[in-house]
Amino acid sequence: MGRRVDSLPRVSWPEGARCAVTLSFDVDAESAALNRGEEYAKRLTSLSQGRYGIHRGLPRILDLLDEHAIQATFFVPGYTAEQHAEAIREIHRSGHEIGHHGYLHERPDRLSPEQELVVIERGIAALDRVVGVRPVGYRSPAWEITPTTLQCLNACGFLYDSSCMGSDIPYVERHGDHQMLELPVQWLLDDWPLFGFDGDNGGQISNPDKVFEIWAAEFDGLYKEGGYFMLTMHPEVSGRPHRVALLDRLIRHIRDHVGVWWATAEQVARHSAPQLA
Ligand SMILES: [Zn+2]
Repeated sequence: MGRRVDSLPRVSWPEGARCAVTLSFDVDAESAALNRGEEYAKRLTSLSQGRYGIHRGLPRILDLLDEHAIQATFFVPGYTAEQHAEAIREIHRSGHEIGHHGYLHERPDRLSPEQELVVIERGIAALDRVVGVRPVGYRSPAWEITPTTLQCLNACGFLYDSSCMGSDIPYVERHGDHQMLELPVQWLLDDWPLFGFDGDNGGQISNPDKVFEIWAAEFDGLYKEGGYFMLTMHPEVSGRPHRVALLDRLIRHIRDHVGVWWATAEQVARHSAPQLA
């Protein structure tokens, strides 16, 4: 009798690859703090913590990706693109994908349907104006989409969403008449719950060896099953020197496995879409 895991839905990867890996970065910068409330406009320390990601974290991350010749996906709020145009253009010039991440890091579930559409259109316009790209992928701030989000993404011609957690391979997220190709995320494959810390909410500052253990073990399991390893990081969190070293270590661990397809989220979406149609 076959094992149950063998009957799980799968996607096949190109050129006989056994599993796929996407490194993704949410470039929040100051937008996440500013979205928390008007009082944050004068909270220079909170704003500077986000800005660190642009000025210090991003260059280290881009160098590491260059060193390993890996193309990644960067989800950028429109406001971040406007405030840090040169840094975001540099991401694009380096060959990485630019995806949509709201305008001022708005959580869709806290917006009206009308506001949701305005925010998505505003984010598209900003990325077009500043970087000259039309994003095909969307990742919702705080990973909380609504049925309206699916509707807006369809209306605006998006290819994929990357905010839901219903699988660990690409799948279709459905609600009523609306659906969208989903490249799933997970809190355990996000640097924020493991490393994120701020003065209001606290958090934790983990030993990177512990985080390496979690991420490498999850990769090993997905590799064994032929799955999809989507890692989410933030330049202000993972751009610290010892965490860039952790990412380097993780990349080397993954590189020790044969048959890994390193791809941007867009590449994975374009490859998976026909199999899920
Ligand atoms: Zn974000």
